[in-house]
Amino acid sequence: MTTAELHQKDKELIWHPFAPLISPFEYIPLASAKGMYLYTTDGEKIIDTVSSWWVNIHGHSDERLAKALYDQALKMEHAIFAGFTHEPAVRLAENLMTVLPDSFSKVFFSDNGSTAIEVALKMAFQYWHNLGEKKKTKVIAIDGAYHGDTFGAMSVGERGGFTAPFFPFLFDVDFIDFPTQDNIEEVMQRFEALVSDEQCSTFIFEPLVQGAGGMRMYSPAILDQLIEIAQRHGVICIADEVMTGFGRTGKNLATDHVTHKPDLICLSKGITGGTMPLGITACNQKIEEAFLSDSYAKALLHGHSYTGNPLACAVANASFEIFTSQVCRDNIARVTGKHKSFAEKLKENPNVENVRTQGTIVAFDLKGFGETSYESEARKKIYPYFLEKGILIRPLGNVIYLMPPYIISDEELDIVYQELLNFLNQLHQK
Ligand SMILES: *Cc1c(COP(=O)(O)O)cnc(C)c1O
Repeated sequence: MTTAELHQKDKELIWHPFAPLISPFEYIPLASAKGMYLYTTDGEKIIDTVSSWWVNIHGHSDERLAKALYDQALKMEHAIFAGFTHEPAVRLAENLMTVLPDSFSKVFFSDNGSTAIEVALKMAFQYWHNLGEKKKTKVIAIDGAYHGDTFGAMSVGERGGFTAPFFPFLFDVDFIDFPTQDNIEEVMQRFEALVSDEQCSTFIFEPLVQGAGGMRMYSPAILDQLIEIAQRHGVICIADEVMTGFGRTGKNLATDHVTHKPDLICLSKGITGGTMPLGITACNQKIEEAFLSDSYAKALLHGHSYTGNPLACAVANASFEIFTSQVCRDNIARVTGKHKSFAEKLKENPNVENVRTQGTIVAFDLKGFGETSYESEARKKIYPYFLEKGILIRPLGNVIYLMPPYIISDEELDIVYQELLNFLNQLHQK
């Protein structure tokens, strides 16, 4: 197909995510992707500084992942996971147990981040049901949260433009304010009051970084305190590590930065290095025990056609091997260090505020662009501006962030940093 045909047929037939059907942008046809770069059908290359929606941690089209996928595809592409098991799934569970907290004992497979959240919510709610606690129905989340686009996940997320058509169908959730150094006492007081309610069942959060909500960051000390208070009152804690898992925050998991461990952890995005869709909901022994029974009444009666898909598991195992290698560790530490120095430079820039970093993520707010909404002016200007320069940067409202694959080189980082500074300086001159 020619580029023109691709454009035409895409416009005719395809409904793209998170966008009006009449798009303000042309969708760019891609021909391939390798390492740090996406290659268009016109032969342009674009550096992927957002890891293709935060999933790609080892670079595109990695040969080791491709080989794992191919080998598994020839052996067994998929098999029903009810009544059967297989080595790719068991090995993945074993691998994950080495990075999950010591108290963790079981993993459940699904297909993406949203379904991992649905499963976690169902496990938390049924935990209380199985214990005969029928009154435990209240849920707490953090203002600005994003947990996915299915109904349970939307319910525990920020109420805003993305979910407005569905408000009547979302279950009630108590939102605490996003914790900062300034409001921390009020937030903790309100949180303590909410978790002390005998109806309170579950607290769900994005540990340390709210991703889609604008790369908002809070300290491990605050997170530790929230989990401690919730668990003191028996409330089940769900850590949504869909974005933060697999090294994003500098450690294996964001919850590795705190001493109080959640009861449930959701993983997805980075798990297969961005090669196959896969979601994981992992739980600790406390949750497991409430389900340990041979009765269907106490079983989690949930599953998906592709549960435990061998291709996804095989790629996840190959990705895990790369992730736990010294080379990858060194890359994560290197990118973290580079971001920190860049953040110091950014802090001197008059067009920038709230410069923040957490591991391999660096983010800042653009001053003077006002609203932080998804379709803000900032986004309309910045996205095409950088694409023109061969850099994929997708601002979240007036928030600009970088979340690159860990293989990005120092030289590539320096080029992207410099282009960001050029952009900011050109703003300053106006
Ligand atoms: C992306 C994301 C999700 C949803 O994952 P999908 O695979 O897009 O359904 C959930 N939680 C967080 C924190 C995310 O960043």
